[in-house]
Amino acid sequence: RVNRNDFMNALEEVHPAFGVSEEELLQVIQNGIIHFDLVVDEILRSGQLLVEQVRTSTRTPLVSVLLHGPAGSGKTALGASIAQASQFPFIKLISPDGMVGFSESQKVAAISKIFSDSYKSPLSVIVVDNLERLLEWTPIGPRFSNAILQALLVLFARRPPIGRRLFIIATSSLRPVLTEIGLSEVFDSELRVPPISSLAALEVVLREVELFSGERERREAVGMLVDAGFGDQGQGDGKLNVGIKKLLSMVEMARQEPENVAQRLTGALMGLGM
Ligand code: ATP
Ligand code: MG
Repeated sequence: RVNRNDFMNALEEVHPAFGVSEEELLQVIQNGIIHFDLVVDEILRSGQLLVEQVRTSTRTPLVSVLLHGPAGSGKTALGASIAQASQFPFIKLISPDGMVGFSESQKVAAISKIFSDSYKSPLSVIVVDNLERLLEWTPIGPRFSNAILQALLVLFARRPPIGRRLFIIATSSLRPVLTEIGLSEVFDSELRVPPISSLAALEVVLREVELFSGERERREAVGMLVDAGFGDQGQGDGKLNVGIKKLLSMVEMARQEPENVAQRLTGALMGLGM
């Protein structure tokens, strides 16, 4: 019989050897990925193909991809999922959240350290989350950290040492800004992460999170949205436009008022200023 100890030992054994810091990554994807639209599977599939490219092609030891899309569309979770699924021995998340209070030079040092650590592993993935915030970009001015930009430009383009391979997944909600400062052309490929814009996709999410006790309640809520003008006649030119992150938080808010779930949810969606 297999007991808990065997299970824990097995976990130990498969744990990668190069000081992976997967906990922070797992935290980002703890809520899971809902397959609300084909595009979700397409993004994950494209990520998987890039992972295979890094793993197998000797010609491309360095591959980078930019996940971009509106705020809350799920870029961080998708990037982390792709990284996680690679099962590469070195997986690291570089996130502005982990660098609160760092000076510019401390940030540059921390970022460089992660890249040089990755060069010790045969296969690595680094998720560089929220580029604009990492760069301390502000629309007022506008300004950003040139020191961090220069570091990223170098690190994103530097080939790892012979025999080492690196996959870089970066995320941003401000792709035009990246283009303006010359950072978008360093990526080998780009994947757009769209918001939810069809009622069909919304329904998949509502079913998945079990907000409503039954099919009938859910259909009623969707009916309210159609009445409110959210219907997407065919090719979603409807008013619906909400990131999965925001939608999930609306769902949790609506849950707080069990007698009025549908009203709360439609109210929140309408309140988005659509
Ligand atoms: P921000 O613009 O604020 O950085 P983001 O685009 O990075 O936001 P995430 O932080 O990834 O968005 O939030 C997405 C949330 O939705 C996560 O909690 C994730 O688990 C959940 N989620 C569910 N389904 C999906 C999906 N198909 N794609 C992405 N995230 C999903
Ligand atoms: Mg994010």
